[in-house]
Amino acid sequence: MDDVSRTEGTKSPAQDGPAEQHLRDQVAACTLMLNDQGILGYSGHVSVRLPDGRGFLIQSVDQSRASLTPDLLLVCDPDGRLLSGPAGLRPPSEVFMHSEILRVRPDVNAVAHFHHDRTTVFTLVDAPRLVAIKNHAVRWASGIPTHGDPSHVNTPARGRALAATLGAHHAALIRAHGQIVVAESVPALFIDCVHFVENATAMYDAALLGAILPLTADEIASFQQDLKRDKHVSKLWSYYVGLALAHGVVQPDWSL
Ligand SMILES: [Zn+2]
Repeated sequence: MDDVSRTEGTKSPAQDGPAEQHLRDQVAACTLMLNDQGILGYSGHVSVRLPDGRGFLIQSVDQSRASLTPDLLLVCDPDGRLLSGPAGLRPPSEVFMHSEILRVRPDVNAVAHFHHDRTTVFTLVDAPRLVAIKNHAVRWASGIPTHGDPSHVNTPARGRALAATLGAHHAALIRAHGQIVVAESVPALFIDCVHFVENATAMYDAALLGAILPLTADEIASFQQDLKRDKHVSKLWSYYVGLALAHGVVQPDWSL
């Protein structure tokens, strides 16, 4: 059971201005695109902080991740309680992982949680531990902590515990459960989720062939020096949005 308020609001997205509508379009697109990439699955969720301090946008617990639209997103306050949204919709039970991470990480504006099986495998064995093995995985050079409690993060206390495990890192694994990825924007979050799963999949495949050769400290430093994150995110976001448009996954009138 979760203790989310079931209060239902009546405010429409248009009343909140173009900034919120842009974020709504991005979160809906990110969700559909992560689903289309086989990353998000049927019960993950994406959130984004609203710039006015009201809280954050997140999808409802029951809405299909394969057919989400911007108007179906809910506004939750900083404690994870429902502020407004279409009648009858309520936040995911794990809304508290979003609220508690956003509370303690001012550098983070967007959070994704998903249950990618190939990636979760790394929490089911003593070794190898998931590390940065591909070049774009330098994003997680500081480490990828594993949260030991596999429970659903359905209380504020569990949200705070997960936020403590994440610390200052940019991603964490939840044992026998799933992943958390955080970033400064929705496009950056999407790209990070893609790279995070690419890295885990590559490491899984490599482990089948022989001993793992993680990136060295010098290699990580060199790639970090060369990487222009904003430019990289913009290039890949444009690519994946184009792919999603071509496949009819997102709508052409969304502001992406
Ligand atoms: Zn979960």
